[in-house]
Amino acid sequence: MASIEFVRVTKSFEKSVVIKDLDLKIEDGKFTVLVGPSGCGKTTLLRMIAGLDPQTSGSVFIDGKDVTRTAPGQRGVAMVFQNYALYPTMSVRENIEFGLINNKVDKAERTKLVESISATVGLKNYLDRKPSTLSGGQRQRVALARAMVKKPSVFLMDEPLSNLDAKLRAQMRLELIELHKKLGTTFVYVTHDQVEAMSMADTIVLMNQGLIKQEAPPEVIYNQPNNLFAAQFIGVPPMNVGDLGVDGVKFGFRPESAVLSNEPGELHYSTQGVIATREMLGSETLYQVRTDRDSFMIKCIEDQFSVDQKVHLGVTAAKIYFFGADENRIGED
Ligand code: ATP
Repeated sequence: MASIEFVRVTKSFEKSVVIKDLDLKIEDGKFTVLVGPSGCGKTTLLRMIAGLDPQTSGSVFIDGKDVTRTAPGQRGVAMVFQNYALYPTMSVRENIEFGLINNKVDKAERTKLVESISATVGLKNYLDRKPSTLSGGQRQRVALARAMVKKPSVFLMDEPLSNLDAKLRAQMRLELIELHKKLGTTFVYVTHDQVEAMSMADTIVLMNQGLIKQEAPPEVIYNQPNNLFAAQFIGVPPMNVGDLGVDGVKFGFRPESAVLSNEPGELHYSTQGVIATREMLGSETLYQVRTDRDSFMIKCIEDQFSVDQKVHLGVTAAKIYFFGADENRIGED
C-alpha cells in the first residue's frame, strides 16, 4: 500500500499548461476517483504517478519518497488502460504471466500466482483462450489480473470500463469495489463519468481545466458542493440553477428537492410553471418545468402530471444553495 502526494506540480505540453501548480494528497489504501470533463487533465495526472510522462515542475511522492527520478517499473504501480492493451497472440495465461517472466519470477511461483489471481477475477476457465475470443468484461478482467500479479502498492486505472455496455459496466463497478476491499491497495481511478465516481470512490477529486474544484467523499460533494462547477457536474440531472437578479448571486436546488403540486404550497421558494416535457423512467418521472424566467428539471417518484399542465413548484429553504459572483457557494453548512 502507498500514499501519493503532488506538491506544486505543473505539467505543460510545449506551450500549453495542462496542470497548474497542483497540490494533492491521495490517501493510502483508499479508492480515489479523478473525475472531470474531457481534457481537464485526469490522464495526465495518472501518467505522472506512473512515471510515463514526468511533471514539468514540482514533485510527486509515492509512500513519502520523491519519485521524480524513479523509473516507471520501479515505482510499485500498475496501470490498467481503457483499451486493456492485451497481447493478441498470447493466451490469457501468457498475458497475465508476462510481467512475472520479465521480473524473473520462477515457473512454480508464476503458476501459483496466475492460478490464484485468475480465480479472484473469475478467469480460471479461460486461461488458455486468446483475448479475441473473450467478451469485453473478460478482457477487462485479464487486464486487471495482469496488473494484480505484480502486487503493486498502487493501482492506476484509466477509464477501464468505458468500452463496456451499460449493464456490464454496472456489474464491473461492483466487482471493482469488491476487489478494492479484498486487496486493500490504493486505487486511483480516472473517469469522466460522475456515476462511476459517485458509486465507487472513497474520495472524489473533481477537476476542471487542470485545477481541483473539490476533493471530498461522494456524499459531501453531492450535499455540500463548494462551487457551481461541483454542483452541476455531480448529479443527474444536474442541479437546477437560476438567477436571483442581485449582484450576480445564483440559487440552485437538486431535481429531487422540489415538490410539484396543483395548489400553491407554503415552501420557501415557490413559483408557477408549465410542464414542458415528461420522461417516465420507471421508478421516477422527470419533468421539465418552464417558469417565466427559468427552466427546471424536477424528479418525482409519482407520475402525475402531463405536458402543458400548469403546476406550482416549491423548494424548502434548507434545500436551496446560493452561489456568489465568483461561483463559490455562499454560507456555512
Ligand atoms: P479525457 O477524459 O478526454 O481522456 P483527460 O481529462 O484525461 O481527458 P488529458 O488526457 O489529461 O485529459 O489531457 C489534458 C490536456 O492535455 C488536453 O488538453 C490534451 O489535449 C493535452 N495533452 C495531453 N497529452 C498531450 C501530449 N502528449 N501533447 C500535447 N498535449 C497533450
